[in-house]
Amino acid sequence: MKEIALLGGSFNPPHVGHLMAAWYVLATEPVSEVWLLPSYRHPFGKALASYDDRVEMCRLAAATIRGLHVCTAEAELAGDPMVGYTVRTLEHLRERHPGDRFALVIGTDILGETGKWHRWDRVQELCRVVVVGRQGHEDGAGGRPLLPAVSSTEVRERLVRGAEVSHLVPRRVLAYVREKGLYRG
Ligand code: ATP
Repeated sequence: MKEIALLGGSFNPPHVGHLMAAWYVLATEPVSEVWLLPSYRHPFGKALASYDDRVEMCRLAAATIRGLHVCTAEAELAGDPMVGYTVRTLEHLRERHPGDRFALVIGTDILGETGKWHRWDRVQELCRVVVVGRQGHEDGAGGRPLLPAVSSTEVRERLVRGAEVSHLVPRRVLAYVREKGLYRG
């Protein structure tokens, strides 16, 4: 039985921190694949990119690492009242892939919030939780290396003011951002 690790997020846009997290899990955990899982609901209050654009950027980012893929389960649940809840997505994926097991990758920045997630007890029954360290959020890292504090927020802010982002975003993602005119503020 293979295990698939899910890295959920808004990926608005995907950056090298996401890739480092995915690579770290592929390299150190007994998983055969990592799937980037973009959130379907619009990231309200943030400079916008559509679901389709975020999925496409995730595909371009994923192509840089073998074993990294993109999962559109949240779009498959678009009409479901529970869309966006991790517990629902996991139940859906378990139905779709009965022969596989799932792990959920969580950065130490959101680790403290999980207790407030809907049915966190059930989430833990449905999957194994894998933690990745993120700089600025040492708690819960348990000796794991802290990955650099790159964030989509920083990337968006830099894009709005016309600052360099080529050291923070995969090259093909940046080409897509430019071509589509995303994050211009
Ligand atoms: P935003 O700045 O828009 O809030 P973000 O950079 O935190 O976004 P998300 O797409 O929300 O990115 O993150 C998805 C997942 O990836 C989360 O589990 C998060 O902890 C993890 N992650 C993102 N960036 C890093 C990083 N630099 N190091 C470790 N984990 C990260």
